[in-house]
Amino acid sequence: MTKVLIVEDNALNLRLFSEVLRCEGLSVATATNGTDALSTAQTERPDVILLDIQMPGLSGFEVLDRLRRDDHLARVPVIAVTAFAARGDQRRVNAHGFDGYLAKPIVGDALIDAVRAVLAGGRAASAPPATPAV
Ligand code: MN
Repeated sequence: MTKVLIVEDNALNLRLFSEVLRCEGLSVATATNGTDALSTAQTERPDVILLDIQMPGLSGFEVLDRLRRDDHLARVPVIAVTAFAARGDQRRVNAHGFDGYLAKPIVGDALIDAVRAVLAGGRAASAPPATPAV
């Protein structure tokens, strides 16, 4: 069974993402901070990691660096999840070596589409539609 590790410090988002992925038949492990994420990744050996960028303690960037330096986890695809959809932020995520990028709020099938894309060996990028000017 495909296992996704969701790393997210916001409890509501964590529950929402978990529900969506479980409904798609995926196995889910969770962590609420970077330190917890690294130890849970060691024990759970996920097939893909959804990694929040903005967390207290270790940032998503720091967690990715540590995952990439670990022989057992270096090749696990990691999708960045970030709250701000600024273009500069997306560039920074791509330059850092993430396998994909999701901007919150995550709408429709973006979450499951991104997970499936990286599991298939591709990249994933999704941002919510821009708010129309009034
Ligand atoms: Mn966060």
